[in-house]
Amino acid sequence: MSSALRREYLAALGLETWVVRGKPPGSPETARPDAPALRDLPEPRDTPARPDAPALRDLPEPRDTPELRDLPEPRAPGAAGDSSPGREAGVDWPELRARVAACTRCALCNTRTQTVFGVGSQTADWLIVGEAPGAEEDRQGEPFVGRAGQLLNSMLRAIGLTREQVYIANVLKCRPPGNRDPTASEAAECLPYLEQQIALLKPKIMLAVGRIASQNLLRTEVTLGRLRQQVHRFGLSQVPLVVTYHPAYLLRTPADKRKAWEDLKFAREVCARV
Ligand code: SF4
Repeated sequence: MSSALRREYLAALGLETWVVRGKPPGSPETARPDAPALRDLPEPRDTPARPDAPALRDLPEPRDTPELRDLPEPRAPGAAGDSSPGREAGVDWPELRARVAACTRCALCNTRTQTVFGVGSQTADWLIVGEAPGAEEDRQGEPFVGRAGQLLNSMLRAIGLTREQVYIANVLKCRPPGNRDPTASEAAECLPYLEQQIALLKPKIMLAVGRIASQNLLRTEVTLGRLRQQVHRFGLSQVPLVVTYHPAYLLRTPADKRKAWEDLKFAREVCARV
């Protein structure tokens, strides 16, 4: 990716890079002390890690929160006593999509325009998981559209990924009316669908965006601020999971975009070492 393009995507994130005054176009840039220097910008994915990049062994260990220990362990798809839809072994993408489209397991089926299954590459290394569809997603049937979706695209671009190279889904496949938070029971009813998507996708890393998604995936009530900058593990497959802010939150709170940029770099480092 060219330096100009990287600057464009970082600018979309609200992160400015400065060019030395008087230097001709294409000259090496310098950054303010508090701005991301271009030397810190994404390298090609198959590039060896920078000498100053943290090795995975140096990254924080997965948290083992008390809340997590108190909750029941997830069951394998198709395990005895597990009647959740989409958990049967052997379900493929079209079958799973059809099951979600016909789902009436919670009351959100009564108010949705349509289900929002997910979008992206079915061989992606990265799985981006949000909370639930909003009004526009409910209308279009695709997660992360509108301004928040555009910012998510810019966040991905900043680490060298396109929207088409990742898979994007939500914990809930139907929109909660009025964009209220999902209830615990709604999330519990819908989560098996995401688990089956993960079983089919086999991602190298999950990026949970926003508090609701993070807390539901990690089955914890720990704040998002405390969940950031750690390698968590999700489900039976123990997929590495990194947490960051939801783009809709970042649109309202641009001061935290710099933290999101740190989270993205952290996730990229984790993925490179899986
Ligand atoms: S939110 Fe999930 S569990 Fe509830 S009706 Fe929609 S697809 Fe089914």
